[in-house]
Amino acid sequence: MALDLVLLGPPGSGKGTQAARLTEKYGIPAIASGDILRAQVDAGTPLGRRVRSYLDRGELVPDQLVVDIIRHRLSEPDTEAGFILDGFPRTVPQAQALDAMLAELQRPLDAVLYLEVDRQSLLDRLGQRHRQDDRPEIAEHRIDVFLKQTAPLIGYYRDEGKLRLIDAARPPELVEAAIDDVIRSLVGAGAGPNSRPTGS
Ligand code: AMP
Repeated sequence: MALDLVLLGPPGSGKGTQAARLTEKYGIPAIASGDILRAQVDAGTPLGRRVRSYLDRGELVPDQLVVDIIRHRLSEPDTEAGFILDGFPRTVPQAQALDAMLAELQRPLDAVLYLEVDRQSLLDRLGQRHRQDDRPEIAEHRIDVFLKQTAPLIGYYRDEGKLRLIDAARPPELVEAAIDDVIRSLVGAGAGPNSRPTGS
């Protein structure tokens, strides 16, 4: 089956954990914009040098940069069976760019799973991680950036009829089960390869 999904949620909401489980279960790649950017920083590429200060400060990198990265990644053959976007899109212009590129490929998103978690639980979880940008001040700032720049996507995808709410303050196994329910409903509604135009 083919499944084109977006995982939307604040830092610490468990997107990475759930994306990994979905990859394992459905054999489709998880594409994490943050991982791609961090790899560029670690490798010291020109792109990495350009984005480093954004990541360090917990600010979003410019839309065009990450849109180009995702466009390139979605052109790779392993995405034919589907994909899970983790951390992209993060702004309305990014979501519009994604819609445009998927329209060109005639493969609209099947669903956007919004992993909802209260602020205190997020801070608790981020406090247990050891990423440079999980230090308390930066973690707080990343949550604010989410609320300001990314939360508008909740309405954006609700209007498109794509939004599915997941209570993600619960343990990962329960979140996973809730996501499975959504995916079953999508498959029942005809998501997957048969729902797409077959082309000519
Ligand atoms: P993440 O691993 O998803 O928490 O992302 C880590 C950092 O990478 C973010 O704080 C941003 O600086 C940058 N980043 C990741 N994805 C995006 C995106 N879609 N748009 C802009 N910046 C991003």
